Amino acid sequence: MKTLHIDLAQRSYDIHIAPGLLSRVGEEIRKVCPKAQRLAIVTDANVEPLYSAQVEDSLEHAGFDTGLFAGPAGEGAKCATHLAALWEAMMHYGLTRTDAVVALGGGVVGDLAGFAAATILRGVDFIQIPTTLLAQVDSSVGGKVAIDLAAGKNLAGCFWQPKVVLMDPETLNTLDDKTFSDGMAEVVKYGCIADREFFDFLCVHPSRAELMANIEHILYTCCNIKRSVVEKDELDTGKRMILNFGHTLGHAYELAGNYETWTHGQAVAAGMCAAAKLGVGLGVTPAGLPERVETLLKALALPTHIDCDAETYAAAIGRDKKGTGGDISVILLEEMGRAVVKKMPKAELLEELR
Ligand code: NAD
Repeated sequence: MKTLHIDLAQRSYDIHIAPGLLSRVGEEIRKVCPKAQRLAIVTDANVEPLYSAQVEDSLEHAGFDTGLFAGPAGEGAKCATHLAALWEAMMHYGLTRTDAVVALGGGVVGDLAGFAAATILRGVDFIQIPTTLLAQVDSSVGGKVAIDLAAGKNLAGCFWQPKVVLMDPETLNTLDDKTFSDGMAEVVKYGCIADREFFDFLCVHPSRAELMANIEHILYTCCNIKRSVVEKDELDTGKRMILNFGHTLGHAYELAGNYETWTHGQAVAAGMCAAAKLGVGLGVTPAGLPERVETLLKALALPTHIDCDAETYAAAIGRDKKGTGGDISVILLEEMGRAVVKKMPKAELLEELR
């Protein structure tokens, strides 16, 4: 088993990565929640038939009483209506302040269950069991939890760190290729912003079979990069911004496709290519680097360009959380494996994107 410790003073926790871990989650959760009697397992309609029985067995074996809360799959579940239904169901189940909420699923389940855990009874313990690649390398680590509002994605949320993150890479075997590729966009991002050797490693092993043969190394490397960034900036006030490489323009592409045409990972992939080219135009990124990013993303079946008009760019940049007044912080690559944050006027960025 590979273990990473996230050092956040009283909110510190471990990430455990091991094939077959799903059948041992009970003993790991018992270590961090010694007093809990009831666990509310939040999952979705796709994950429930695949993994909930195994998780329930392990939890019950460790002496927990379990309640299963399976909502619909997909981004639509991350809404106020489902959150309210979850609160009511947890109260009906009899959850108390010494009990805990377990998220079993992808980033949608993690964000919804985490926000429910942070708010029910003014906050109960929370455990992440991420089952998508994106959730394992990104959303389950760092403590951001949220739901979507009609006004935009992730607009109601908070920071609520888990007590432990339990990753079983074998759960990735049941992902379809598109969802697997989606998560790979975030994996490539880590290489770009923080680890040139890791980027080169991915270039040599881009097929799903090769990636899965090295999956523990990949998960560990990504989570370790996120760990070092989150430890320096738990509440996302500065340094953590580099994790958004490719995301500002990615959000424009998601918006251009009305959140239906392009998945988040596809939009981030094209956003990283555009940000790399932008960096060359601004004299920050060396020539030739965008082509390296494009070659890897193509090998991973991810798009390297998405059409977007000036109006959509303006709308996405206007609502970007990294913007203050007339300025926006863009994440650029000084070289492969090193990101910098550059503050620039929004109008100048829009001009560069023409
Ligand atoms: P998701 O949770 O919708 O999962 C994608 C699909 O895979 C779903 O249909 C799900 O049912 C299915 N699935 C999950 N695990 C499976 C498995 N092992 N086998 C087969 N099918 C499985 O999407 P996602 O890509 O995991 O997460 C996206 C969400 O994460 C977005 O809402 C995004 O805002 C959020 N996010 C949060 C953070 C954060 O820091 N909190 C960071 C990045 C993304």
